[in-house]
Amino acid sequence: MNNRWYSQGLRFSCRQCGSCCTGAPGYVWLSREDIGAMAEALGIDCRAFLQKYCRRVQGRISLLEYENGDCVFYNSPGCALYSARPAQCRAFPFWPQLLKSRGRWEREKRRCPGMGEGETHSPGQIEEFKAMVRGS
Ligand code: SF4
Repeated sequence: MNNRWYSQGLRFSCRQCGSCCTGAPGYVWLSREDIGAMAEALGIDCRAFLQKYCRRVQGRISLLEYENGDCVFYNSPGCALYSARPAQCRAFPFWPQLLKSRGRWEREKRRCPGMGEGETHSPGQIEEFKAMVRGS
């Protein structure tokens, strides 16, 4: 783990700008735990949550988004369900694909002003975030 390019840790503190919740279409993959937590936060059951806010894509469940790509729970300038947001969102920007190389991480910084700023996350913490995404 120590020979990874981020062996000194990486700085990140969310600025709540909403850039990662909006724009180009994408997928927010949900685990059973994510669905349960989000439904509970909304005070509805999981079936209702799935019908109202989710879509099935290639056998997996993803959140709905608006035609412009904004997440269905985006509520300018942030997430309407922030405290119950899914693992994929909690783990951002420590996603495996963004950590493959320093170059990939640096490119992502162009759209996320929180990367490279604020709290330093240790390699161990970063691995925990990566595992959250793999498991979702
Ligand atoms: S783009 Fe970065 S700073 Fe902006 S809301 Fe997303 S994680 Fe936070």
